Amino acid sequence: MRGRARSVSVSVVGGGIGGLTAALSLLRAGFDVHVYEQAAARHEVGAGVQISPNASRVLHGLGLAEDLARTGVRPLAWHQRRWDDGRTLLRTPLAEPLEARFGFPHYQMHRADLLSALASSLPSARLHLGHQLVGLIDRETRVEARFANGVTADVDVLVGADGIHSRVRRILFGPERPRFTGCAAYRGLVPAERLRDLGLDVTAEIWMGPGGHFVRYYVSGGRLVNFVAVVEQDDWTRESWTDRGELADALAAFEGWHAQVRAILGAVDETFIWALFDRTPLERWSAGRVTLLGDACHAMLPFMAQGAAQAIEDAATLTACLADAEADVAEALRRYERLRAARTARIQGLSTDNKRRFHLPDGPLQRERDAAMSAGSTDFSFDAVAWIYQHDATTAGEEPA
Ligand SMILES: Cc1cc2nc3c(=O)[nH]c(=O)nc-3n(C[C@H](O)[C@H](O)[C@H](O)COP(=O)(O)OP(=O)(O)OC[C@H]3O[C@@H](n4cnc5c(N)ncnc54)[C@H](O)[C@@H]3O)c2cc1C
Repeated sequence: MRGRARSVSVSVVGGGIGGLTAALSLLRAGFDVHVYEQAAARHEVGAGVQISPNASRVLHGLGLAEDLARTGVRPLAWHQRRWDDGRTLLRTPLAEPLEARFGFPHYQMHRADLLSALASSLPSARLHLGHQLVGLIDRETRVEARFANGVTADVDVLVGADGIHSRVRRILFGPERPRFTGCAAYRGLVPAERLRDLGLDVTAEIWMGPGGHFVRYYVSGGRLVNFVAVVEQDDWTRESWTDRGELADALAAFEGWHAQVRAILGAVDETFIWALFDRTPLERWSAGRVTLLGDACHAMLPFMAQGAAQAIEDAATLTACLADAEADVAEALRRYERLRAARTARIQGLSTDNKRRFHLPDGPLQRERDAAMSAGSTDFSFDAVAWIYQHDATTAGEEPA
């Protein structure tokens, strides 16, 4: 449903999942919104992305239910397995039981499918490709954004949804010092047809082993299998989604792992390597008429599969706050930050903890973890994740105490 036309104008910098969701949500609420994306065209290299019920709730509300059902895959279960013999450590049914509990589906998607569903829902005149933000000036009553191509935009509110290396964040709060976690992830996609002999079921598998873990699930309506193979290594310098990795290195890192893991890696044509960095939650997200959203303010390790979901939640809550307090936008942005910061910081922390839990060397701690999983006591039980999955970000609601 579209809201009444509002007088507030908004520039969203960054046309990733967070920025496009924010633009669509603000537009539907009646705001005059434009998105500025630095890329001149869409060349999507990202692989899989998980859209849990807290995020699909928002996307369904924006009219994307059919797109998600067509291109997303609804996994039947989380299946945690042991790295060498493939033994099941835990299998948590998803699909119907999950939808009955949380009201919305869990989807596993190709980033390109999600981005194209979001972008095609926006009128093309609202999305400006080839616009790299290089500066901004907050004039108290308005904000001016400056782009490398000479264009300027003069608006009431500016939202920095410009990802891990956010220029908007740097302008507001100075440089950041992310810490290398000692982990890198090989990522890639394999045509499902090529893996037919393995008989992979429609689950999300997480194989846990000493110093690494391996995740695989279907995307793109089941046509592709996405994998993320996380290894520990000593050093790294660059944090990029687009660096290419060597398949031989990935196979060497998973020497001795179960044949199924090695068969998936062996079937890959190309892989990207992504060095994983950790961040301390930011103290502030907003200053005056400018705020941040998504990875720009709370980039997290992928071990809770919440990076995209939290950006989508941000978009919905930002819209609700601006709609509630249209006249005082600076206060609306502060309220948005107060509503979001503790929740995203908690998920950032849990994502970091999972690195240690997933990578335990074989020994007493690993046996303790596996026994707890076999007994059904795990961070992946519905009760444990309920505070994440049942959250409704579309209403501003009460501020946390
Ligand atoms: C190429 C890519 C691949 C990814 N692959 C995965 C993956 O496989 N698995 C996973 O879990 N997560 C992945 N992510 C991250 C995940 O998508 C994010 O955690 C989540 O979607 C939150 O996104 P965001 O919108 O905050 O940031 P992003 O998705 O990073 O989007 C930020 C956008 O801002 C644009 N931008 C940056 N600087 C400027 C500027 N100065 N001016 C204008 N535009 C600018 C960028 O080009 C980008 O489109 C990937 C991100 C990217 C960019």
